[in-house]
Amino acid sequence: MQRERSSRGGSDDTSPSWGNWSTSRAVAWTLVGSVLVLALAGFATGVLVMPGGADGGGVGDASGPTGGGVVGDVTTTAPTTDGSRSGGGAAGDGTDGGAATESPATTAEEPKTWTEYDGIVVFRNDDIQPYYRSETMRAVDQTFVDEGVPVTLGVIPQVNGEHSITESDVCTYLRERARENPDIFEFSLHGYTHEKRTDFHGGSEFGGLDPTTQREFVEDGTRTLTDCVGERPTTFVPPMDSYDEATVDALSAEGYTTVSGAGWFTADYYGTSEVFQQGGLVHVPNDGGFVANWTTGEFHDPATLEQRFDWAIEDEGLYVQMLHYQDFDTPERLEQLREFLQYVKGYGDVRFMTVGELGQHVADGTARQTDDGWEVYE
Ligand SMILES: [Zn+2]
Repeated sequence: MQRERSSRGGSDDTSPSWGNWSTSRAVAWTLVGSVLVLALAGFATGVLVMPGGADGGGVGDASGPTGGGVVGDVTTTAPTTDGSRSGGGAAGDGTDGGAATESPATTAEEPKTWTEYDGIVVFRNDDIQPYYRSETMRAVDQTFVDEGVPVTLGVIPQVNGEHSITESDVCTYLRERARENPDIFEFSLHGYTHEKRTDFHGGSEFGGLDPTTQREFVEDGTRTLTDCVGERPTTFVPPMDSYDEATVDALSAEGYTTVSGAGWFTADYYGTSEVFQQGGLVHVPNDGGFVANWTTGEFHDPATLEQRFDWAIEDEGLYVQMLHYQDFDTPERLEQLREFLQYVKGYGDVRFMTVGELGQHVADGTARQTDDGWEVYE
């Protein structure tokens, strides 16, 4: 108490504190008088400051010059919960800018509650690469933009080991897409060269490959994709939908949070086709693609896809649709994609997420399954 008062400022504090001593005022004044005399008598400026300022002055100094930044930041930028953040931010530079932008953001996010959904729906579009059906790639992306449905793009960093994606104009295109539609696109690392290297579960780029090479592929691919799109990926989509524990270790070491293979694969390898956590990652298996016949490239008919979706939502409250953009190379096929997106949007109260967003929510415990679907803390 005394410290606060004295640090607040000299003039006001002097009278109340002396007032408390009214009974011995005479003595006090005598003492003061002596001190003043001493002070006037010599080089006693320091002596005068010592007795009077030992508490007040000392504390005042601490919260003034030394702690000035800290105290100032806390009180000015601390609309309640911001303390920890502004502490971290204030330590660096840009105290004003950082604190000013952070405060409203935190305040806006603050009233979070659990929201119930019939289900969570995720779309994953694989094989993003240069020099291959670029018009179709753009048309598929545009369909997601038009429908306002988020999608995770699986980007191949070194197609066939020949073309680094950073040498193409796809990177510029992807950056523009993301800038114009920040809530639609997530960029994920889709393997390395996208070549079949092992016979693991019917053929895999990563599964069954020696751990050191997997680690090198993940590191180099991550660097390349980060250069390309300007942000570090947190989701990995293995080519041919399969991976093994060494892949998970390599991804975990590189800071990935989420991996998305196929439901049929995780059922074989991990014993489940639902979302699960293992090896430091959230695993988000997909329910399948559009193609019914890989030899002819024929699509499932819309009713089949819709039924698969309905069943998945009823069973698990979660549906993860995989697709390859290059398959949507006719107006009819693009229209089928659009109609499926509209069907899903019209199903009920579904929450769209990217693969990484779902992974992050599951990792944080801010999305969880309920009896009727999922609830999300947001
Ligand atoms: Zn692929």
